[in-house]
Amino acid sequence: MNPAFGTLRRDFGGDIIEPGGAEYESASRTVSALGSPAYVLRPKSVRDVQASVRFAASAGLLLSVRGGGHAFAGFGTNDGGVVIDLSNLANVEIIDKERHLVRIGGGATWGEVAAALAPHALAISSGDTKSVGVGGLTLTGGIGWKVRKYGLALDSEVAAEVVTANAEVVHASTQQNSELFWAIRGGGGNFGIVTAFEFVAHPTTDVFHGKVAFPASQAATVLQSWADYMRTAPEELTSVAVFANPLAGGPDAPVEIHVVFDGDDLGLADQAIDPIRRLGTVTGDDIALKPYADALEDGGPPPPGIQFVARSAFVAAESVPDIVHILAQARTSQRSPVIAVRSVGGAVSRVPDEATAYAYRQAELMLLTFTVGPEPAIEAARPALETIWEKLAPHVSGAYANFLTPATEEDVAAIYPAQTYKRLAAVKRRYDPGNLFARNHNVRPR
Ligand SMILES: Cc1cc2nc3c(=O)[nH]c(=O)nc-3n(C[C@H](O)[C@H](O)[C@H](O)COP(=O)(O)OP(=O)(O)OC[C@H]3O[C@@H](n4cnc5c(N)ncnc54)[C@H](O)[C@@H]3O)c2cc1C
Repeated sequence: MNPAFGTLRRDFGGDIIEPGGAEYESASRTVSALGSPAYVLRPKSVRDVQASVRFAASAGLLLSVRGGGHAFAGFGTNDGGVVIDLSNLANVEIIDKERHLVRIGGGATWGEVAAALAPHALAISSGDTKSVGVGGLTLTGGIGWKVRKYGLALDSEVAAEVVTANAEVVHASTQQNSELFWAIRGGGGNFGIVTAFEFVAHPTTDVFHGKVAFPASQAATVLQSWADYMRTAPEELTSVAVFANPLAGGPDAPVEIHVVFDGDDLGLADQAIDPIRRLGTVTGDDIALKPYADALEDGGPPPPGIQFVARSAFVAAESVPDIVHILAQARTSQRSPVIAVRSVGGAVSRVPDEATAYAYRQAELMLLTFTVGPEPAIEAARPALETIWEKLAPHVSGAYANFLTPATEEDVAAIYPAQTYKRLAAVKRRYDPGNLFARNHNVRPR
């Protein structure tokens, strides 16, 4: 037994799950990795988180911190190390009704948040899936269904409670430990464990949500006209174009334009969505008024053995015709990944670049590819994927950490331009000089 374990047993009031235990298998895995950690710790309080951090540090074991467990790189588990699983810290509390100030535990999921805020007619722009964690998504961005109106999830964050590598509890906001607050809005889990986030939530009504489908053959014109329209569309409208989905026919899969119109006025919604309906020959349209929480997908783990490879990049307005051309060609191959293009801009681009560590605020689109399947299928699809990304490279910049499976230094450099990385490394030196929090797109202290 690890000698530090005795101290953990004394100080820790949460659940300790070890190999052989009843829950071990399910507690070891995340959405994209199976893992075989030596210990899964489920703290029930901030003191438990402190005890867990002390244990991981003194035991000298690899540490994974898990929020919702959805990182494509499988950061939320490991082999032989410690997992601090925050799922018991999932409280959602409105702490100031007038200001719509909400305090959310670091292990909550966005489905839990949407459900808790719905009775108060509030919501926070987050992502598109209920099971995704507030922690991982917010720490590096958060491109959700209200992104053009309210910005990234991290743009609604006003404070955080953080347990740092030396197990101290630190409060971060623009007034307190402001450099840490800057870093945790974009810099991921590099600086400590966020035990609670405070957000300003937004009033919400029901929203119009659904998709309009077009024939695959119209991909190039639909995509170009969609991107042109989104440049001037009302910011209540957020939209994602999805095509080449192998499960929907691969090269013959329809081009789906998914939308949320943030409002319940049918006239205004139609005014915003009708230009999308005119992008091509409509083959399906299931847009309907629904509670915001129902616009979120359920998510959840795939069958064991199924892997995801996600890659992403940002696109500036002037590069849109080039990427449309490349993607419209790529989708005709049987080996094409699923391709999704998200409209960003709007409120995201109005936040000053230096206000947070999220680096690509001026991009118009965020583009991502997904390859899904058992390992042999992933390997077989790799050459085609590499070819697509080689073609895209001159026309895109950076990468969005939340949709990025690889985690090489090159990938980290794509997420954080040099100036951002330098500033993050300075914060890392201050709060985690020994790089305890390394299972992430890692910013090295040196
Ligand atoms: C089905 C699916 C749908 C998605 N949809 C969207 C979307 O619409 N928009 C979008 O922007 N992204 C989306 N994502 C990407 C998602 O934001 C990232 O995968 C994110 O990392 C998930 O966070 P998590 O807490 O669930 O993951 P985890 O794997 O638990 O954590 C991810 C990283 O964050 C760290 N971390 C998590 N919580 C904390 C905490 N409280 N304190 C310190 N560090 C922490 C972990 O250590 C790890 O490094 C989606 C992913 C999936 C799988």
